[in-house]
Amino acid sequence: MASGVLVFGEATDDGGLNPVTKELIAAGSNLGGPVTCVLAGTGVEGLAQECVAAGAGKVIVVDDPILTPYQGDAYIPMAERITKEVDPSVLLMGQTMMGRDLAPRLAQRFSTAVAMDCMALSMDGDQLIAERPCYGGSARARYKINGTPQMATLRAKAVEPLAPDSSRQGEIVRQDAGVTADQVRTKITDRRKEKAEGVRLEDATVVISGGRGLGGPEGFKELEDLAEIMGGAVGASRAVCDLGWYPVPTQVGLTGKVVTPDLYIAVGISGASQHMAGISSVKNIVAINKDADANIFKASRFGVVGDWKEIFPAFKEKVRELKSA
Ligand SMILES: Cc1cc2nc3c(=O)[nH]c(=O)nc-3n(C[C@H](O)[C@H](O)[C@H](O)COP(=O)(O)OP(=O)(O)OC[C@H]3O[C@@H](n4cnc5c(N)ncnc54)[C@H](O)[C@@H]3O)c2cc1C
Repeated sequence: MASGVLVFGEATDDGGLNPVTKELIAAGSNLGGPVTCVLAGTGVEGLAQECVAAGAGKVIVVDDPILTPYQGDAYIPMAERITKEVDPSVLLMGQTMMGRDLAPRLAQRFSTAVAMDCMALSMDGDQLIAERPCYGGSARARYKINGTPQMATLRAKAVEPLAPDSSRQGEIVRQDAGVTADQVRTKITDRRKEKAEGVRLEDATVVISGGRGLGGPEGFKELEDLAEIMGGAVGASRAVCDLGWYPVPTQVGLTGKVVTPDLYIAVGISGASQHMAGISSVKNIVAINKDADANIFKASRFGVVGDWKEIFPAFKEKVRELKSA
């Protein structure tokens, strides 16, 4: 009978452990475990012990260049085989590029279902309860999955990793990918890295976003200054990106990025539901808006009603002062 939790961990491009891996292991442990973690890619063996310290009872290492970079055709046969062997009750992946592609394709192989982009997971007896946003982030829906394994992908930072404990014991096993080049139908001809300066929006603990209320692209210079002082990143509403005031990759929301900082400062953003969909997991929202009835205030911990041009410079100087104190 299916039991335990199987998670598919991930390495970063520079060979580290993608933080979502530890979050998945923690989520699996919170569900009752035991957690088996798959680490696939090239040069990933050195990361296995980190997974054990993070709470995995077993790590299956599949070290093979055919698995780097991620390609569904190469991963699916390997993931299907390991899933059959482990026979987990619950299978988790990150809501990452890999998880988005692999999870539904794997679910199809097992005639089961997958709840994507979950923000919370719990068990009701043997039944996984997967919670995910719906209606553009204005509500949350709870899903039960009838098939086996019960599958979900987890949004980054939805779960706190367990405190690392190097005394934790775990089994580390190596397996071959068992995939040949002729099984991979796609060919990656080129990879280009998005030029990014400073902290990535998705990783930032502080995000300062600007909307149409800034009045023009010049306003973003002020936001960038504050982001630099606070070690944060700058985001934007879709209205701003559509107007060409700020680059499209910085768009936050339903059709942009989902961000999960501890602090989100929204300047001149009305708080349309499509924007809120990208910030529903933010711990603290602070809004500056001249309209006291703006929707953004409904979700804000702190709000300042007024013209951002009058409020923001003083706010920035105060933060600078506190930072240098
Ligand atoms: C299918 C679909 C997908 C979408 N996806 C996204 C998405 O991913 N992300 C997203 O952001 N939007 C998205 N949108 C657009 C969304 O509906 C809103 O139009 C957009 O978020 C509005 O951006 P805004 O808040 O910057 O502009 P506005 O709605 O124009 O709001 C500007 C705000 O600035 C305030 N303001 C004006 N002047 C000042 C001032 N001097 N000082 C302080 N405040 C001031 C105003 O009171 C107002 O609240 C989507 C829409 C659709 C239909």
